[in-house]
Amino acid sequence: MPDTRHSDCCSAAADTKKPLATIEQTIERAIGLCGTIEGTEVVPVTQAIGRTAAFDVISYLELPLRDHSAVDGYALGGTGTGPFRVVGRTTAGETAARRLSSGQALRIMTGAPVPPGTEAVVMQEHVTVSGDQVTAGFAVPAGDNIRCRGEDVSSMDTLVKAGARIDPRHVAILAASGYQGLEVRRKLRVALLSTGNELRDPGVGMGPGSIFDTNRPMLQALLAEERIDITDLGIKPDKRDVISACLAEAAMHHDLIITSGGVSVGEEDHIKPAILDAGGQIESWCMAIKPGKPITLGRLDKAVFLGLPGNPLACFVDFLLVGRPLLDSLEGRPTAFPSVRNARAGFSWERRPGRREFFPATVVGVSDEGLPVIEKIGRAGSARLMPLIEADGLGAVDSTCSSVEPGSGLQFFPFKSQMML
Ligand code: AMP
Ligand code: MG
Repeated sequence: MPDTRHSDCCSAAADTKKPLATIEQTIERAIGLCGTIEGTEVVPVTQAIGRTAAFDVISYLELPLRDHSAVDGYALGGTGTGPFRVVGRTTAGETAARRLSSGQALRIMTGAPVPPGTEAVVMQEHVTVSGDQVTAGFAVPAGDNIRCRGEDVSSMDTLVKAGARIDPRHVAILAASGYQGLEVRRKLRVALLSTGNELRDPGVGMGPGSIFDTNRPMLQALLAEERIDITDLGIKPDKRDVISACLAEAAMHHDLIITSGGVSVGEEDHIKPAILDAGGQIESWCMAIKPGKPITLGRLDKAVFLGLPGNPLACFVDFLLVGRPLLDSLEGRPTAFPSVRNARAGFSWERRPGRREFFPATVVGVSDEGLPVIEKIGRAGSARLMPLIEADGLGAVDSTCSSVEPGSGLQFFPFKSQMML
């Protein structure tokens, strides 16, 4: 009887039957494996950066709180040029001065409440003062330089939507609205494991065939977010029973287990059987991308399982393309494909079509239509790291692409976002 817990499209036999999955299909399936975690906590607004709002936050105030002056100048009891008679002075933090009558003016500073009867405020640079009289240099239109109560935020407006990733903009509007605390999703519990007999941490018995573990530190760095608590499960050898016991234990206390290595179909690739031994389910397939073709997803106990390829660049690409959306989905954030820009090639390249290909790329200029012109760095290779160091992002070509010429349309995934967040 076929094992229905394990659908494998990576094996040579299955490859001919099942087409490789697109990234979008893989993300959809990954998201299908997990619900949103339960549990919230209240944190100070200033410590909510990078966390996810658990609920909509509604404003109970209007912003601005009251009509006030946008400039240092004179509140005018009328429009036109005047002259107006100055009857007093008011600054930010004071209660609104008494009503201005027609023809009167009040010396006013930025942020000070405008008194009733104010038709407009004129900047101090635009008046001539003579004794207690001010005359505007031009006919001041009604409403000029007055910030009106509620013009920014009305009461009952949604300040922050459930699922929003909190950044400094949200902190600003919550602070302006008097919020000190925010209810956010509890932190995601993510366990991280490297598998491979050859892997060592520095200082731990390097042998003739050993290499330093790259993926675990790299994934720790990629997961270094406020919303995540990481458990480091270390390195495990290519031993099915050892890996299985480790995963079974981790599944009891984590929302997500991420491993790297051992997900191909080689004799020393034990991840899939180890999950099945531990009583889990595997949905394994290959993505039609390069690098990063083999990827394994599944469930074990309450945890979602993500098995990334061992080659560091493949591991990096698959984490960004599938791991991040999976984390977002677990946390109830809208899952977005990494931000992508249209770009133009600054190079030539002949390639075999079939898989969508990602490559480290650097921005070398701007095209006539204002698109970034990108250069592919180094030779292809899923184990190479040096090109990443020089790269500004990942370039990508579609699966059908067989050649790239200077000026060809490409996609570009910048490492750094346009915002400083
Ligand atoms: P695997 O997916 O286990 O077949 O590994 C593919 C390649 O990636 C092999 O050359 C491994 O030595 C290498 N590799 C696997 N895991 C890691 C790791 N954590 N750090 C660096 N290289 C790795
Ligand atoms: Mg291995």
